[in-house]
Amino acid sequence: MTAGAVIIGAGQAGGRAALMLAEGGYNGPVTLIGAETLPPYERPPLSKDMLSDPATPPTWLADPARYQQAGIRLVLGRQAIAIDRRAARIRLDDGTDLPYAHLVLATGSRPRRLPFTLDRLHDLRTIDDVTALSAHAARARSVLIVGGGVIGLEVAATLATKGLAVTVVEIGSRLLGRNFPAPVAALIAARHATAGVAIRTATRVRALHEDTGGIHATLSDGSILSADVAVAGIGVVPDSGLAQAAGLAVDDGIVVDHRMRSSDPAIFAIGDVAAQPGPMGRAMRCETWQNANVTAAHAVAAILGAAPPVAEAPWFWTDQYDLNVQLAGITGPEADGARIVEQQPGAQNQAAIDGRLFLVLDGNRLIGAAAVNAGREMSICRRLVTAGAMLPDALIGAATFDGRAARAVLNPRPASARLVDA
Ligand code: ADP
Repeated sequence: MTAGAVIIGAGQAGGRAALMLAEGGYNGPVTLIGAETLPPYERPPLSKDMLSDPATPPTWLADPARYQQAGIRLVLGRQAIAIDRRAARIRLDDGTDLPYAHLVLATGSRPRRLPFTLDRLHDLRTIDDVTALSAHAARARSVLIVGGGVIGLEVAATLATKGLAVTVVEIGSRLLGRNFPAPVAALIAARHATAGVAIRTATRVRALHEDTGGIHATLSDGSILSADVAVAGIGVVPDSGLAQAAGLAVDDGIVVDHRMRSSDPAIFAIGDVAAQPGPMGRAMRCETWQNANVTAAHAVAAILGAAPPVAEAPWFWTDQYDLNVQLAGITGPEADGARIVEQQPGAQNQAAIDGRLFLVLDGNRLIGAAAVNAGREMSICRRLVTAGAMLPDALIGAATFDGRAARAVLNPRPASARLVDA
């Protein structure tokens, strides 16, 4: 029996880590500490189902009863305020402190804020944020969205569908510049335009003020845009303050190795806050649902002395209107200069709306893929990207994605089977 594992942060990564540790036979007590009063819940529905209908119940990460069954001590509505590494204890905001043998920092990230504090200006990270935004949106006819990234556009789609007049102001020259290939971003922009959303790229909000008539933005071109409510979705900043104060190596996020171990071997960091070894020696954070799960699994395996989980290509999705868009592997600015080949999804998907597949290629190697309403093709592409597969010219050159040929690349039949077939 050890002094136990303490996990700070009860989001996707922290919740998963606690369950995997306790259910994986960790030799000691497992404590999960969360600042929110709710047990861990899934965030993807917040900007979609929950904003669309505030009566939508949370999607729990796990049945809340499971924590108790697994012997996890859930400490909710409490913040960890200090780590004493020499004593191997953490202090909570109610003055109590807890010992640890293993400490997992899953503190996540918080929305980057515009330099204005206004009642009508919202951001979206927690269930409380959705509740506050929904209350305003229910009385609103128009909304200004600052930031044409994933959160901003999901909120735009949800509120446009509810009948609000939506304007998106994006500082970059196009939408989704951080992680989407240009043709996919263009397709999403076109779908928003069809829904009547006004999109202003290469535009900044210079000033914001509110009065009883609404919220008024002075834009960088001098124009003034008024709306009943505003939402900022301008990215996140990692919550690494606790780690920094404790003297751990921090470089944007908490610096970790491949097994999620920080500069202190008893302390791990997972999820949005973890800065993992990236290409060319740069530490890189990743803010996806999948990354939360994968990094939790890595840390837990390291703590339990188990083999690391099998690698998988980075993967991400967004749902806007009738579009399901998925990305795998390299698809952001790092893919600039790579060859992007556009294909129709396979025959079985032809009923899907606007189905499209984009293959990101380095020579014949598939290094990334983006799928619009082509989930089935994407699941094959994810495996091809993970495998670093070389695609035959015929597969790359086809107008329609050839799922059979792609599966054959993954599972080449042994020569003997080919002989029998012949
Ligand atoms: P999020 O998770 O909040 O959607 P992203 O990084 O995907 O984060 O998107 C944030 C978007 O906000 C980016 O496209 C970025 O260019 C844009 N952005 C950042 N700061 C501003 C700003 N001050 N005004 C308008 N857009 C901004």
